[in-house]
Amino acid sequence: MTRRAIFVPPVFILFCFAGLSLCQSSPAGPENITAIHAANLIDGVSAEMRHNVLVVIKGNKIDSVTAGGKAPAGAAVISFGPQVTVLPGLIDTHTHIFLQGEDPAEGGYDIQLLKHPSSFRAARATVSARRALEQGFTTLRDLETEGAGYGDVGIKEAINAGYIPGPRLFVVTRAISVTGGYPLEGYNPDIVVPKGAQLGDGPVELRKIAREQLENGADWIKVYMTHRSWVDKKGKLVSQPTLTTEELKAVTDEAHGQQKKVACHAYGGIGLRRALDGGCDSIEHGLDLDDAAITQMVEQGTWYVPTLAVYYGDWAAENTPDGQRDRARASVHEVSFRKALKAGVKIAFGTDMGGIPWTQPIAQEFDKMVEFGMSPMNAIQSATSRAATLLDKQGELGVIAPGAYADVIAVAGDPLAKVGALKNVTFVMKDGKTFKESGDRVIR
Ligand SMILES: [Zn+2]
Repeated sequence: MTRRAIFVPPVFILFCFAGLSLCQSSPAGPENITAIHAANLIDGVSAEMRHNVLVVIKGNKIDSVTAGGKAPAGAAVISFGPQVTVLPGLIDTHTHIFLQGEDPAEGGYDIQLLKHPSSFRAARATVSARRALEQGFTTLRDLETEGAGYGDVGIKEAINAGYIPGPRLFVVTRAISVTGGYPLEGYNPDIVVPKGAQLGDGPVELRKIAREQLENGADWIKVYMTHRSWVDKKGKLVSQPTLTTEELKAVTDEAHGQQKKVACHAYGGIGLRRALDGGCDSIEHGLDLDDAAITQMVEQGTWYVPTLAVYYGDWAAENTPDGQRDRARASVHEVSFRKALKAGVKIAFGTDMGGIPWTQPIAQEFDKMVEFGMSPMNAIQSATSRAATLLDKQGELGVIAPGAYADVIAVAGDPLAKVGALKNVTFVMKDGKTFKESGDRVIR
């Protein structure tokens, strides 16, 4: 998505290098065995915190999870005491590693497409990926490169091959919208400027775009079903619809035929209705969900990725059209979220990181979800087992259970008492390899 975001501090580079000293990598071959003693464990599925649990990891998978017990002979042992909580690696289902905030003072969104070479953007994307992993996010669904082409496929391959550290990535590549449905905008029409998404019109052209993106490595397809929004004469938030239902159906039909899913950016109104009628698998943002939309989402099993926090800071000045829009968006968003929660819509954790600078804590989204009525355990499950289900990886990701990938984190404190503890990640293991360790870790 695009929306303005806040100032990127000049200490950014310094901060990243400081981060390096925190990060280590211990190779885990297929025979390596690690045993984790957890005084407190949130396993991603159970309704309650578990205590005094032994997690045995063989290679890159969890082998057993038992109450108490002794570590196997020869295992490397890690013990986390009573002040620490162990969890599955977290999952953010809405990020943009190729986007670095949208602060106008920094050149905003446009400068990133107009002036930065793709190598510069790729270099920064590796830093974004690393920052996510440092914060305990071992999996991301990255929802488009914002004009950086198929760069996400390359970053994913580099992570998987072990050249750079980063989360598991599920990527959408370029994303799809229609003519007039995505920036860059507002330039002399006689000058061809790059677009942040791949634009097309008509079912034939849009199906061809979907085929092209899938051929080139898209794990998901992303479609913009609404674009600009404004406050009308009656004070109501209105969003510009983009694809017709017929156009969207060409995309969803193509994706579903290849057993891939479609994530749809939609705020509300006509565009949201078309998104649901056209078979979108997840609604991104969904600021303005009316009762009919919520009912339809429950009936169809559509996912809701609300990305709350990004809409509650950095508003434009109050008495400007943009300022009115920002306030209108926030006021309906909370109502939509609370209604969806009550109605039992499937909610997955997503932030829109990149739309906000990667220097901000990803876990701030948990604070907003809990503030708006979700229990801390429900919020955690939205970023673990439930997010894994969205990704069709239930049992493999987002859970501490036998057979799952050994993505394990630890945080200082009790996130069920204070969900903000999820910002204090002290240990990160991905795929059985320890990436970050600090704080309360004891090796015997
Ligand atoms: Zn987005």
